[in-house]
Amino acid sequence: MSDEQAYEAVKATLKAERIQPFKRDELEAVRSVEGCINCGLCIGHCPVVRAVGVERFSGPRSIAVELSRSPPEFWTTSDKVYLCTGCGTCREVCPRKVNIPAVVNMIRTRIFAQRPDLVPKALLDEHDVIVKHSLAFEPWADQEEKSESRKVRLETLGLPSVPDRVVPGADVLFYPGCQAEERAQEVKEAAKYILSYFGINYTLLDQMSCCGLPSKLIGDDETARLLAGRLQDKVKSLGVKKIVTTCAGCTSNLCDISARDGWGIPVYHLVEFLAEEIGFNKVSRPFKGRGRFTPAKVTIHDPCHIIRHTSRQIAEHARAILNLIPGVTIEESGMSDSCCGGGGMVGYHSRDVADAVVTENVAAISSTEADTVVTPCPLCTAQIESNLFRAGSQTVVEDLTVFFARRLPQKR
Ligand code: SF4
Ligand code: SF4
Repeated sequence: MSDEQAYEAVKATLKAERIQPFKRDELEAVRSVEGCINCGLCIGHCPVVRAVGVERFSGPRSIAVELSRSPPEFWTTSDKVYLCTGCGTCREVCPRKVNIPAVVNMIRTRIFAQRPDLVPKALLDEHDVIVKHSLAFEPWADQEEKSESRKVRLETLGLPSVPDRVVPGADVLFYPGCQAEERAQEVKEAAKYILSYFGINYTLLDQMSCCGLPSKLIGDDETARLLAGRLQDKVKSLGVKKIVTTCAGCTSNLCDISARDGWGIPVYHLVEFLAEEIGFNKVSRPFKGRGRFTPAKVTIHDPCHIIRHTSRQIAEHARAILNLIPGVTIEESGMSDSCCGGGGMVGYHSRDVADAVVTENVAAISSTEADTVVTPCPLCTAQIESNLFRAGSQTVVEDLTVFFARRLPQKR
Protein backbone atom coordinates (compact mmCIF):
# COMPACT_ATOMS: atom_id res chain seq x y z
CA MET A 1 0.00 0.00 0.00
CA SER A 2 1.44 3.38 -0.97
CA ASP A 3 1.62 6.26 1.52
CA GLU A 4 -1.24 7.92 -0.29
CA GLN A 5 -3.38 4.79 -0.13
CA ALA A 6 -2.55 4.36 3.56
CA TYR A 7 -3.51 8.00 4.23
CA GLU A 8 -6.82 7.52 2.42
CA ALA A 9 -7.47 4.28 4.35
CA VAL A 10 -6.85 6.06 7.68
CA LYS A 11 -9.15 8.91 6.65
CA ALA A 12 -11.89 6.43 5.65
CA THR A 13 -11.53 4.59 8.99
CA LEU A 14 -11.74 7.84 10.97
CA LYS A 15 -14.84 8.81 9.04
CA ALA A 16 -16.49 5.40 9.50
CA GLU A 17 -15.72 5.50 13.24
CA ARG A 18 -16.93 9.12 13.40
CA ILE A 19 -13.57 10.22 14.84
CA GLN A 20 -12.98 13.93 14.35
CA PRO A 21 -9.26 14.62 13.77
CA PHE A 22 -7.69 17.14 16.13
CA LYS A 23 -7.29 20.70 14.93
CA ARG A 24 -3.82 22.19 14.85
CA ASP A 25 -4.56 24.47 17.84
CA GLU A 26 -5.80 21.47 19.88
CA LEU A 27 -2.71 19.33 19.48
CA GLU A 28 -0.65 20.94 22.23
CA ALA A 29 -3.38 20.30 24.82
CA VAL A 30 -3.86 16.73 23.59
CA ARG A 31 -0.13 16.04 23.86
CA SER A 32 0.01 17.56 27.34
CA VAL A 33 -2.18 14.69 28.56
CA GLU A 34 0.69 12.27 27.87
CA GLY A 35 2.71 14.03 30.57
CA CYS A 36 0.37 13.05 33.43
CA ILE A 37 2.19 11.26 36.25
CA ASN A 38 -1.02 10.45 38.16
CA CYS A 39 -0.02 12.51 41.17
CA GLY A 40 -3.64 13.44 41.90
CA LEU A 41 -2.88 17.08 42.76
CA CYS A 42 -5.50 18.31 40.29
CA ILE A 43 -8.23 16.29 42.01
CA GLY A 44 -7.31 17.64 45.42
CA HIS A 45 -7.49 21.24 44.22
CA CYS A 46 -10.54 21.08 41.92
CA PRO A 47 -13.28 23.29 43.43
CA VAL A 48 -16.06 21.19 41.87
CA VAL A 49 -14.72 17.96 43.38
CA ARG A 50 -14.41 19.79 46.70
CA ALA A 51 -17.98 21.03 46.48
CA VAL A 52 -19.86 17.97 45.21
CA GLY A 53 -17.50 15.00 45.58
CA VAL A 54 -16.03 12.54 43.08
CA GLU A 55 -19.28 10.60 42.80
CA ARG A 56 -20.91 13.56 41.04
CA PHE A 57 -17.81 14.97 39.31
CA SER A 58 -15.11 12.41 38.80
CA GLY A 59 -12.45 15.10 38.60
CA PRO A 60 -9.96 16.60 36.21
CA ARG A 61 -7.59 13.67 35.83
CA SER A 62 -10.31 11.17 35.20
CA ILE A 63 -11.97 13.34 32.53
CA ALA A 64 -8.87 14.50 30.73
CA VAL A 65 -6.48 11.61 31.15
CA GLU A 66 -8.63 8.49 31.32
CA LEU A 67 -11.62 9.53 29.27
CA SER A 68 -10.22 11.58 26.42
CA ARG A 69 -9.00 8.91 24.06
CA SER A 70 -11.71 8.31 21.50
CA PRO A 71 -15.42 8.87 20.84
CA PRO A 72 -16.92 6.12 23.05
CA GLU A 73 -14.98 7.54 26.01
CA PHE A 74 -16.04 11.07 25.09
CA TRP A 75 -19.66 10.03 25.22
CA THR A 76 -19.25 8.44 28.64
CA THR A 77 -17.97 11.75 30.05
CA SER A 78 -21.13 13.59 29.07
CA ASP A 79 -22.63 13.63 32.57
CA LYS A 80 -19.33 14.96 33.97
CA VAL A 81 -17.65 17.11 31.35
CA TYR A 82 -20.33 19.83 31.56
CA LEU A 83 -19.75 20.23 35.33
CA CYS A 84 -16.25 21.65 34.90
CA THR A 85 -16.28 25.41 35.51
CA GLY A 86 -13.12 25.84 33.44
CA CYS A 87 -11.44 27.58 36.39
CA GLY A 88 -7.97 26.36 35.41
CA THR A 89 -6.92 25.46 38.96
CA CYS A 90 -6.02 21.91 37.89
CA ARG A 91 -3.69 23.20 35.16
CA GLU A 92 -2.14 25.68 37.56
CA VAL A 93 -1.26 23.07 40.20
CA CYS A 94 -0.33 20.29 37.77
CA PRO A 95 3.44 19.63 37.87
CA ARG A 96 3.29 18.60 34.18
CA LYS A 97 1.01 21.48 33.15
CA VAL A 98 -1.59 19.17 31.65
CA ASN A 99 -4.07 21.52 29.98
CA ILE A 100 -7.24 19.98 31.36
CA PRO A 101 -9.60 22.94 30.67
CA ALA A 102 -8.60 22.81 26.98
CA VAL A 103 -9.18 19.05 26.87
CA VAL A 104 -12.60 19.55 28.49
CA ASN A 105 -13.51 22.04 25.72
CA MET A 106 -12.22 19.62 23.10
CA ILE A 107 -14.44 16.82 24.42
CA ARG A 108 -17.43 19.18 24.55
CA THR A 109 -16.73 20.16 20.94
CA ARG A 110 -16.85 16.55 19.79
CA ILE A 111 -19.99 15.77 21.78
CA PHE A 112 -21.72 18.85 20.33
CA ALA A 113 -20.73 17.92 16.76
CA GLN A 114 -21.43 14.21 16.91
CA ARG A 115 -23.79 13.48 19.82
CA PRO A 116 -25.87 16.65 20.39
CA ASP A 117 -28.41 14.44 22.20
CA LEU A 118 -25.87 14.28 25.07
CA VAL A 119 -25.54 18.07 25.42
CA PRO A 120 -27.61 19.51 28.32
CA LYS A 121 -30.79 21.03 26.93
CA ALA A 122 -30.14 24.41 28.60
CA LEU A 123 -26.91 24.68 26.62
CA LEU A 124 -28.68 23.86 23.35
CA ASP A 125 -31.25 26.57 24.15
CA GLU A 126 -28.42 29.01 24.86
CA HIS A 127 -26.81 27.99 21.58
CA ASP A 128 -30.04 28.99 19.79
CA VAL A 129 -30.01 32.42 21.47
CA ILE A 130 -26.40 33.04 20.40
CA VAL A 131 -26.99 31.95 16.82
CA LYS A 132 -30.13 34.09 16.56
CA HIS A 133 -28.80 37.28 18.16
CA SER A 134 -24.98 37.02 18.11
CA LEU A 135 -25.28 37.74 21.83
CA ALA A 136 -25.20 35.48 24.88
CA PHE A 137 -28.50 36.89 26.14
CA GLU A 138 -31.88 37.65 24.61
CA PRO A 139 -31.62 41.35 23.84
CA TRP A 140 -34.15 43.74 25.34
CA ALA A 141 -37.29 43.65 23.22
CA ASP A 142 -38.02 47.29 23.97
CA GLN A 143 -35.08 49.69 23.64
CA GLU A 144 -36.92 52.39 25.59
CA GLU A 145 -37.30 50.03 28.53
CA LYS A 146 -33.61 49.18 28.28
CA SER A 147 -32.72 52.84 28.37
CA GLU A 148 -35.11 53.50 31.30
CA SER A 149 -33.57 50.62 33.26
CA ARG A 150 -30.08 52.04 32.57
CA LYS A 151 -31.19 55.49 33.70
CA VAL A 152 -32.58 54.18 36.98
CA ARG A 153 -29.40 52.21 37.69
CA LEU A 154 -27.18 55.21 37.00
CA GLU A 155 -29.28 57.44 39.24
CA THR A 156 -29.16 54.87 42.05
CA LEU A 157 -25.40 54.59 41.76
CA GLY A 158 -24.81 58.32 41.28
CA LEU A 159 -23.05 57.79 37.97
CA PRO A 160 -23.24 60.21 35.06
CA SER A 161 -24.52 59.14 31.66
CA VAL A 162 -21.98 59.24 28.85
CA PRO A 163 -23.44 58.94 25.34
CA ASP A 164 -22.45 55.91 23.25
CA ARG A 165 -19.89 56.73 20.57
CA VAL A 166 -18.74 54.96 17.43
CA VAL A 167 -15.60 56.66 16.13
CA PRO A 168 -13.72 55.08 13.22
CA GLY A 169 -10.00 55.65 13.66
CA ALA A 170 -10.21 55.81 17.48
CA ASP A 171 -7.21 54.40 19.37
CA VAL A 172 -9.13 52.03 21.59
CA LEU A 173 -12.13 49.76 21.17
CA PHE A 174 -14.10 49.47 24.40
CA TYR A 175 -15.74 46.06 24.24
CA PRO A 176 -18.21 45.67 27.13
CA GLY A 177 -19.23 42.05 26.44
CA CYS A 178 -22.75 40.61 26.39
CA GLN A 179 -23.35 40.76 30.16
CA ALA A 180 -22.56 44.48 30.47
CA GLU A 181 -24.36 45.23 27.20
CA GLU A 182 -27.64 43.54 28.04
CA ARG A 183 -27.74 42.88 31.79
CA ALA A 184 -25.22 44.76 33.96
CA GLN A 185 -25.54 48.00 31.98
CA GLU A 186 -23.98 50.01 34.80
CA VAL A 187 -20.62 48.31 34.10
CA LYS A 188 -20.59 49.50 30.50
CA GLU A 189 -21.64 53.00 31.59
CA ALA A 190 -19.01 53.15 34.34
CA ALA A 191 -16.27 52.12 31.91
CA LYS A 192 -17.33 54.76 29.36
CA TYR A 193 -17.19 57.35 32.14
CA ILE A 194 -13.70 56.22 33.25
CA LEU A 195 -12.32 56.21 29.70
CA SER A 196 -13.80 59.67 29.00
CA TYR A 197 -12.57 60.97 32.36
CA PHE A 198 -8.96 60.11 31.46
CA GLY A 199 -9.30 61.47 27.92
CA ILE A 200 -9.05 58.17 26.04
CA ASN A 201 -10.01 58.31 22.37
CA TYR A 202 -12.23 55.23 22.36
CA THR A 203 -15.02 53.79 20.30
CA LEU A 204 -17.73 51.19 20.79
CA LEU A 205 -18.82 48.72 18.12
CA ASP A 206 -21.71 49.92 15.94
CA GLN A 207 -23.51 46.80 17.17
CA MET A 208 -22.38 44.57 20.00
CA SER A 209 -21.44 41.06 18.90
CA CYS A 210 -20.45 38.17 21.20
CA CYS A 211 -16.75 37.22 21.34
CA GLY A 212 -17.67 33.53 21.05
CA LEU A 213 -16.63 32.32 24.52
CA PRO A 214 -20.08 30.92 25.46
CA SER A 215 -20.24 29.02 22.14
CA LYS A 216 -16.77 27.60 22.76
CA LEU A 217 -17.82 26.43 26.23
CA ILE A 218 -20.98 24.83 24.87
CA GLY A 219 -18.76 22.99 22.38
CA ASP A 220 -20.04 24.83 19.33
CA ASP A 221 -16.64 25.52 17.86
CA GLU A 222 -18.09 26.52 14.48
CA THR A 223 -20.15 29.40 15.91
CA ALA A 224 -17.29 30.40 18.23
CA ARG A 225 -14.96 30.76 15.24
CA LEU A 226 -17.64 32.50 13.16
CA LEU A 227 -18.21 35.08 15.91
CA ALA A 228 -14.47 35.56 16.38
CA GLY A 229 -14.09 36.17 12.63
CA ARG A 230 -17.00 38.62 12.59
CA LEU A 231 -15.50 40.54 15.49
CA GLN A 232 -12.11 40.57 13.82
CA ASP A 233 -13.67 42.20 10.72
CA LYS A 234 -15.33 44.87 12.87
CA VAL A 235 -12.10 45.55 14.78
CA LYS A 236 -10.08 45.84 11.56
CA SER A 237 -12.61 48.16 9.94
CA LEU A 238 -12.54 50.46 12.98
CA GLY A 239 -8.74 50.58 12.78
CA VAL A 240 -8.24 50.55 16.57
CA LYS A 241 -4.84 49.86 18.11
CA LYS A 242 -5.98 48.39 21.42
CA ILE A 243 -9.01 46.65 22.89
CA VAL A 244 -10.26 47.23 26.43
CA THR A 245 -12.88 45.07 28.13
CA THR A 246 -14.51 44.94 31.56
CA CYS A 247 -15.38 41.23 31.56
CA ALA A 248 -12.90 38.59 32.75
CA GLY A 249 -14.14 36.00 30.24
CA CYS A 250 -14.01 38.44 27.31
CA THR A 251 -10.49 39.47 28.34
CA SER A 252 -9.11 35.94 28.28
CA ASN A 253 -11.04 34.89 25.18
CA LEU A 254 -10.12 37.99 23.19
CA CYS A 255 -6.46 37.59 24.21
CA ASP A 256 -6.60 33.99 22.97
CA ILE A 257 -8.32 34.64 19.65
CA SER A 258 -6.29 37.77 18.94
CA ALA A 259 -3.12 35.66 19.33
CA ARG A 260 -4.56 32.60 17.53
CA ASP A 261 -5.93 34.50 14.54
CA GLY A 262 -3.12 37.06 14.27
CA TRP A 263 -5.13 40.22 14.99
CA GLY A 264 -1.94 41.97 16.09
CA ILE A 265 -3.94 44.01 18.61
CA PRO A 266 -3.34 43.81 22.38
CA VAL A 267 -6.33 43.21 24.65
CA TYR A 268 -6.53 44.66 28.17
CA HIS A 269 -8.92 44.38 31.05
CA LEU A 270 -9.81 47.94 32.09
CA VAL A 271 -7.96 47.42 35.39
CA GLU A 272 -4.83 46.54 33.42
CA PHE A 273 -5.37 49.46 31.04
CA LEU A 274 -5.64 51.89 33.97
CA ALA A 275 -2.46 50.53 35.53
CA GLU A 276 -0.29 49.99 32.48
CA GLU A 277 -1.51 52.36 29.79
CA ILE A 278 -2.99 55.34 31.63
CA GLY A 279 -0.56 54.83 34.51
CA PHE A 280 -0.86 55.07 38.29
CA ASN A 281 0.38 58.66 38.34
CA LYS A 282 -2.47 59.88 36.21
CA VAL A 283 -5.02 57.56 37.78
CA SER A 284 -4.13 58.68 41.31
CA ARG A 285 -4.21 62.42 40.51
CA PRO A 286 -7.99 63.00 40.83
CA PHE A 287 -7.92 61.66 44.39
CA LYS A 288 -5.12 63.93 45.65
CA GLY A 289 -6.06 66.80 47.91
CA ARG A 290 -9.78 66.11 47.66
CA GLY A 291 -11.93 66.50 50.83
CA ARG A 292 -13.36 63.63 52.82
CA PHE A 293 -14.11 60.20 51.49
CA THR A 294 -16.58 57.73 52.92
CA PRO A 295 -14.67 54.82 54.46
CA ALA A 296 -15.23 51.48 52.75
CA LYS A 297 -13.97 48.09 53.90
CA VAL A 298 -13.76 45.89 50.85
CA THR A 299 -12.78 42.36 50.04
CA ILE A 300 -11.84 41.20 46.56
CA HIS A 301 -12.80 38.27 44.38
CA ASP A 302 -10.27 37.46 41.62
CA PRO A 303 -11.96 35.94 38.54
CA CYS A 304 -10.46 32.69 37.21
CA HIS A 305 -10.51 34.05 33.66
CA ILE A 306 -8.21 36.82 34.81
CA ILE A 307 -5.80 35.17 37.20
CA ARG A 308 -5.52 31.74 35.64
CA HIS A 309 -6.36 32.39 31.99
CA THR A 310 -4.86 35.85 31.47
CA SER A 311 -2.44 37.15 34.11
CA ARG A 312 -2.16 37.15 37.89
CA GLN A 313 -0.65 40.60 37.66
CA ILE A 314 -4.11 42.02 36.90
CA ALA A 315 -5.16 40.98 40.42
CA GLU A 316 -2.26 43.01 41.81
CA HIS A 317 -3.30 45.97 39.66
CA ALA A 318 -6.85 45.69 41.04
CA ARG A 319 -5.55 45.99 44.60
CA ALA A 320 -3.20 48.84 43.68
CA ILE A 321 -6.07 50.77 42.09
CA LEU A 322 -8.35 50.25 45.08
CA ASN A 323 -5.52 51.44 47.34
CA LEU A 324 -5.44 54.75 45.44
CA ILE A 325 -8.96 55.56 46.65
CA PRO A 326 -8.87 57.37 49.98
CA GLY A 327 -10.97 55.70 52.66
CA VAL A 328 -10.80 52.24 51.10
CA THR A 329 -9.27 49.42 53.11
CA ILE A 330 -8.86 45.90 51.74
CA GLU A 331 -9.57 42.88 53.89
CA GLU A 332 -8.37 39.69 52.19
CA SER A 333 -10.69 36.70 52.55
CA GLY A 334 -8.02 34.08 51.90
CA MET A 335 -10.30 32.63 49.21
CA SER A 336 -10.13 35.47 46.70
CA ASP A 337 -8.68 33.24 43.97
CA SER A 338 -11.08 30.35 44.48
CA CYS A 339 -13.56 29.76 41.65
CA CYS A 340 -17.02 31.26 42.29
CA GLY A 341 -18.73 28.53 40.26
CA GLY A 342 -20.00 31.01 37.69
CA GLY A 343 -17.86 29.76 34.78
CA GLY A 344 -18.01 26.96 32.24
CA MET A 345 -21.78 27.49 31.66
CA VAL A 346 -22.37 25.14 34.64
CA GLY A 347 -25.08 27.35 36.16
CA TYR A 348 -27.17 27.07 33.00
CA HIS A 349 -27.95 23.39 33.57
CA SER A 350 -26.65 22.48 37.05
CA ARG A 351 -27.34 25.48 39.25
CA ASP A 352 -26.90 23.33 42.39
CA VAL A 353 -23.29 22.55 41.42
CA ALA A 354 -22.45 26.18 40.55
CA ASP A 355 -23.89 27.32 43.87
CA ALA A 356 -22.17 24.55 45.84
CA VAL A 357 -18.82 25.75 44.45
CA VAL A 358 -19.33 29.31 45.75
CA THR A 359 -20.30 28.20 49.28
CA GLU A 360 -16.73 28.40 50.61
CA ASN A 361 -16.25 31.84 49.04
CA VAL A 362 -19.45 33.09 50.67
CA ALA A 363 -18.26 31.92 54.10
CA ALA A 364 -14.81 33.46 53.60
CA ILE A 365 -16.30 36.76 52.41
CA SER A 366 -18.64 36.88 55.41
CA SER A 367 -15.75 36.28 57.79
CA THR A 368 -14.01 39.47 56.60
CA GLU A 369 -17.00 41.59 57.72
CA ALA A 370 -16.38 43.75 54.65
CA ASP A 371 -19.14 46.15 53.52
CA THR A 372 -18.47 45.39 49.87
CA VAL A 373 -17.06 42.63 47.68
CA VAL A 374 -15.47 43.99 44.52
CA THR A 375 -14.55 41.94 41.50
CA PRO A 376 -13.51 42.96 37.99
CA CYS A 377 -16.13 40.82 36.25
CA PRO A 378 -19.90 41.27 35.85
CA LEU A 379 -20.50 37.50 35.72
CA CYS A 380 -18.65 36.84 39.00
CA THR A 381 -20.53 39.82 40.46
CA ALA A 382 -23.90 38.22 39.60
CA GLN A 383 -22.90 34.76 40.88
CA ILE A 384 -21.53 36.03 44.21
CA GLU A 385 -24.34 38.55 44.68
CA SER A 386 -27.14 36.01 44.31
CA ASN A 387 -25.45 33.57 46.69
CA LEU A 388 -24.64 36.17 49.35
CA PHE A 389 -28.27 37.28 49.14
CA ARG A 390 -29.50 33.70 49.59
CA ALA A 391 -27.20 33.36 52.61
CA GLY A 392 -28.85 36.45 54.14
CA SER A 393 -25.67 38.53 53.97
CA GLN A 394 -25.82 42.34 54.01
CA THR A 395 -22.53 42.60 52.06
CA VAL A 396 -22.88 44.54 48.82
CA VAL A 397 -21.26 43.17 45.66
CA GLU A 398 -19.99 45.65 43.12
CA ASP A 399 -18.10 45.31 39.88
CA LEU A 400 -14.70 46.95 40.33
CA THR A 401 -15.29 49.19 37.31
CA VAL A 402 -18.47 50.56 38.89
CA PHE A 403 -16.86 50.84 42.34
CA PHE A 404 -13.97 52.89 40.92
CA ALA A 405 -16.15 55.10 38.67
CA ARG A 406 -18.47 55.97 41.57
CA ARG A 407 -15.51 57.24 43.60
CA LEU A 408 -13.88 59.32 40.87
CA PRO A 409 -14.14 62.93 42.08
CA GLN A 410 -16.05 65.28 39.79
CA LYS A 411 -13.68 67.26 37.59
CA ARG A 412 -13.23 70.87 38.74
S1 SF4 B 1 -10.87 23.53 35.27
FE1 SF4 B 1 -11.46 23.79 37.46
S2 SF4 B 1 -13.47 22.79 37.60
FE2 SF4 B 1 -12.54 22.07 35.68
S3 SF4 B 1 -11.55 20.17 36.23
FE3 SF4 B 1 -10.01 21.81 36.40
S4 SF4 B 1 -10.06 22.43 38.56
FE4 SF4 B 1 -11.94 21.24 38.16
S1 SF4 C 1 -2.01 17.17 38.51
FE1 SF4 C 1 -1.35 16.79 36.39
S2 SF4 C 1 0.13 15.11 36.54
FE2 SF4 C 1 -1.05 15.13 38.49
S3 SF4 C 1 -2.77 13.72 38.12
FE3 SF4 C 1 -3.51 15.76 37.57
S4 SF4 C 1 -3.13 15.89 35.35
FE4 SF4 C 1 -1.89 14.19 36.11
